[in-house]
Formats: sequence, C-alpha cells, structure tokens
Amino acid sequence: MWPFEPYKIDTEFNKPASYGPHEGLDLNVAGTWGNQDLGTPIKCIYPGRVIHSSASELNYGNLLVIESNTPQGKRWARYCHLQSHSDGFMMRGDIIGTMGSTGNSTASHLHLDVLKKKPSHWRFYSKNILEWYVDPRELINAIIETPMEQDKLNALKNLEAYRPNRTQGQEGSFEGFVNAIIGSDRSITSIENELTQAKERIKTLEATPPATSPVTPIPVEFTDPVAKNYYHQALQAEAWSKL
Ligand SMILES: [Zn+2]
Repeated sequence: MWPFEPYKIDTEFNKPASYGPHEGLDLNVAGTWGNQDLGTPIKCIYPGRVIHSSASELNYGNLLVIESNTPQGKRWARYCHLQSHSDGFMMRGDIIGTMGSTGNSTASHLHLDVLKKKPSHWRFYSKNILEWYVDPRELINAIIETPMEQDKLNALKNLEAYRPNRTQGQEGSFEGFVNAIIGSDRSITSIENELTQAKERIKTLEATPPATSPVTPIPVEFTDPVAKNYYHQALQAEAWSKL
C-alpha cells in the first residue's frame, strides 16, 4: 500500500541527492506542486508498531519510526518531514500522520525510507545504501495480511488501548508479553503452547497453599473477543512470571 494516492515519485531510491545516494523515496501527491499537498493524511504501508517519534528543524524534521516483522526480517520504516504523527500499533492503511515540510525540506513532501539494520540513532544516514536500506517497495508491495496477522494486530491494538488501566508494577512483564507476540521468532502456536504450560503450572500451584499473593484481574470491558482472549492470556502470563 502506498502512503497516499495518486502519488508521484520526486526522488527515487538510491539515486543521487545533494548529500549522497537517496536512502528512500520522496513522494508527493500527483498533480500538486509546492505546498499544495501539505497536510495530506499518510497511511501506514505495512503493519507494525511506532517505536520512535521526534521533532527537529534539522534533516528529517518530524520523524516517525515503525518497526515491523516481515518474512525477510525486521524492518524500520521512517516517515519524515511530517506535520503531525500518531502513536501505537498501526495496521496497514491506518493514518500515521500528515505530510509536512519540517526539517531539511523546501516544500511539503514525504520522505519514506526503510532500514534493514537497526541504526545507533534514528536520524542515522549512511552512504552504503544497499547495506543499510531496502527499497520501500519491499513493504509497499508486500502481501501480508493473513487473517491471523490481522487478528493478532487488532488484539494488540486493543491491548495497547487498555494499558492505562494497569498498575505501574505490571508494565514490565506486560511489555514482555506484547513483545513475545510480535517478536519475529515467535509463532502464535509457540506463544499459545507457552500459555498452556503457564495455565497448567498455575493450576498445579493453586492446588497447594499460595506462596505469593494472587494477581487481581483489573475489570475492563471488551467488545473485541480476540482482544479479550489475549488480555486474559496476558494476565495469566504475568501471574506465571511472578511464580
Ligand atoms: Zn528524501
């Protein structure tokens, strides 16, 4: 999925730019010029999680980084020069922000690039284009949304929304659980197996006098049954991690 349509490519991937080879794609709304497309909503090209956002009047301007697990490995998509941006888990097509002209930019445009190695900082640039970056079309054109992935990401989005209901001390293990779900080396089956084992272990321990105080579930209302299921699994995983 392209970030918006109709689009035109003003600078191609790996083509000479003022500072060296271009690490991504510069995109504008086709048929516009100057700042006419300022504020255009920008869609997420591939599902993932916002892991970084920052504002600056230098180089990439307002910058958003979305981390994704792909069949080719982890990828980090940087959406640059934004006017505004969102946060959280993003499905393909979700609005990640709006087009701006912040940073090193003479008129509104979207600079989109995709890293295949995690850099030391998010305003990173290397002239070794093919070592560090991939053509963003790898994510734009990828076919990814199997029903299971869709369910998983929807569940995670819902879980994220319920995070404020949770107490401070539970954040760490909850975060771990979320990362376990989205980790590229973990399949849903292996997570489910782990949770089954956790349930068994909790059952066994419940049969004996408790050594630790039980986790009190925080009442929350779910409309999404998948989210509800994952939420209860998360609680159990936490209970397990405390045993
Ligand atoms: Zn650019």
